[in-house]
Amino acid sequence: MNSARDRLLDWLRDAHAMEEQAETMLSSQAQRIQSYPELKERVEEHLRETKRQAELVESCIAKLGSSTSAVKTASAKMMAFGQGLSGLFVGDEVIKGSLASYTFEHMEIASYRILIAAAENAGEPEIKRTCQQILAEEERMAAWLEQHLAQTTREYLKRESLEGTGTAKR
Ligand code: MG
Ligand code: FE
Repeated sequence: MNSARDRLLDWLRDAHAMEEQAETMLSSQAQRIQSYPELKERVEEHLRETKRQAELVESCIAKLGSSTSAVKTASAKMMAFGQGLSGLFVGDEVIKGSLASYTFEHMEIASYRILIAAAENAGEPEIKRTCQQILAEEERMAAWLEQHLAQTTREYLKRESLEGTGTAKR
């Protein structure tokens, strides 16, 4: 029995489900944002990164001789779909979306830090490197969101005061 390896595999599966959820959330945001071109572009870029991350995590799982759980992936997608829907009709959806994205990126950062330690512990240097590579992308996205939260808020408030929530909201 090798519990370090089993745990690593478990957590990689969780990360894969998380990336599937990220993909659903980001793609719904990218499609809905209209009045914030810079934000839209960054979300689209991170959507491309996220799809690649899901593949990379899948390859780590395959390296350990397993595959992703269809059940877990489906439930993660459903959760993200629910979240996407709940954000559809709020008057400040771009703000709620930014808040959710910023929070989500930090959950991803924590997950990959845990995976890096677990991969090192299990003697899987290649998986560790892959997780470090993904971590760097999550940190870049979190930093971008952090740098733009105030600007998005100001733009939203200005637009709302001039035009109402119609164009401001997304
Ligand atoms: Mg990710
Ligand atoms: Fe991310």
